[in-house]
Amino acid sequence: MARYTDSVCKLCRRERQKLFLKGQKCYTEKCPIESRSYPPGEHGQSRRSKVSEYGIQLREKQKIKRSYGLLETQFKNYFEKANKQKGITGENLVKLLERRFDNIVYRIGFAGSRKQARQLIRHRHFSINDQLVDIPSYSLSVGDIIKVRDKSKKLDAIHDSLKRVKDSTYSWLTVDKANLLGTFVQIPEREEVPLNANEQLVVELYSK
Ligand code: SF4
Repeated sequence: MARYTDSVCKLCRRERQKLFLKGQKCYTEKCPIESRSYPPGEHGQSRRSKVSEYGIQLREKQKIKRSYGLLETQFKNYFEKANKQKGITGENLVKLLERRFDNIVYRIGFAGSRKQARQLIRHRHFSINDQLVDIPSYSLSVGDIIKVRDKSKKLDAIHDSLKRVKDSTYSWLTVDKANLLGTFVQIPEREEVPLNANEQLVVELYSK
């Protein structure tokens, strides 16, 4: 499966906003968006052409897809699942994405980015309800307890990431730093999710 291998900071610059793809660097002055918010490339600073409705919708889709680190097909599958659910499709989409295991590991603070979370999950550092889970796309249910496995409790990567976390960053998660565990307390409402994108435009894009 083709994966994006160029600098992820270019993706943020393309979307002209922080997508928080790089871990600790995203929270420092070294983040290139702080000094260069224009798109990458030779014409990045000069390009000011009028953007079509399709172009605007496409950018919103790319922002969300890139924030969660998904490939096109994976993202489309989430959209189709969201579209079959009751309620507002765009909100359903964000809620489904938030339930991904890699996202929850990142939000809890066990990883500095979703990419790092995927790597740690694949390396079998976490359990859900005391069962080993090494699938980053696994969808969590309310009440699930995520733990760092005993063999991984001294891992620097996890402790370094946890340092940036306050105890109650998100209302739908609880974090117990001392015991290296977190609980998925509830599915968040859309307005609670810190995602700077308009998911309704994605619905319009896919409805064409
Ligand atoms: Fe790079 Fe993170 Fe800044 Fe994005 S937010 S440009 S990934 S450092």
